[in-house]
Amino acid sequence: MTIKRQLEDKRRLFGIHEYAFAKTSDLLFSMGTRLLCEGNQCGHYGATWACPPAVGSYNSCVAKCRSYENVCLLSTVTDLKGQYDFRGWHRARIFHEAATAKSARLFRAHYPGALVLSTEGCILCDQCTYPDAPCRYPDQIFPSVEGYGIVVMDLASKTGLSYNNGPETVTYFSFVLF
Ligand code: SF4
Repeated sequence: MTIKRQLEDKRRLFGIHEYAFAKTSDLLFSMGTRLLCEGNQCGHYGATWACPPAVGSYNSCVAKCRSYENVCLLSTVTDLKGQYDFRGWHRARIFHEAATAKSARLFRAHYPGALVLSTEGCILCDQCTYPDAPCRYPDQIFPSVEGYGIVVMDLASKTGLSYNNGPETVTYFSFVLF
């Protein structure tokens, strides 16, 4: 069975809202996206192995992505109880990372070297070891897609995926390159 068929079969079980396949040549990279990371509004810059500068230079991230041929973009959507529903935002992150991990296992059964990128740092440990000791789970982390300089909205738009799913919802994206 093809990976597309398998993903479609598992989509609801994994909690994926939408997904699309594209070529990595469709990816738009921007140094500006990377510079937003360095602005550190999220607080993850220089705080985890999944974010810059630990993920490598902008050019090395672009080159790594370009070394793959295909990309699958997938999204999750979680309802929030208002703009300041911080528990809801956290719940959304956990839900999205779980969906990403399930998808990663599916892809890596076919493509062991698949690169899986997700959003906003890493939530696997209460306290990240960065930079004092190696990552505890290097095979399980999903580096930040923004840290790799990818313009998420561009591929979402090209593939017809909804970037915004309405007020009082949060939409997260992951990228699987294979
Ligand atoms: S798995 Fe743990 S040590 Fe590794 S990047 Fe994530 S939080 Fe840091």
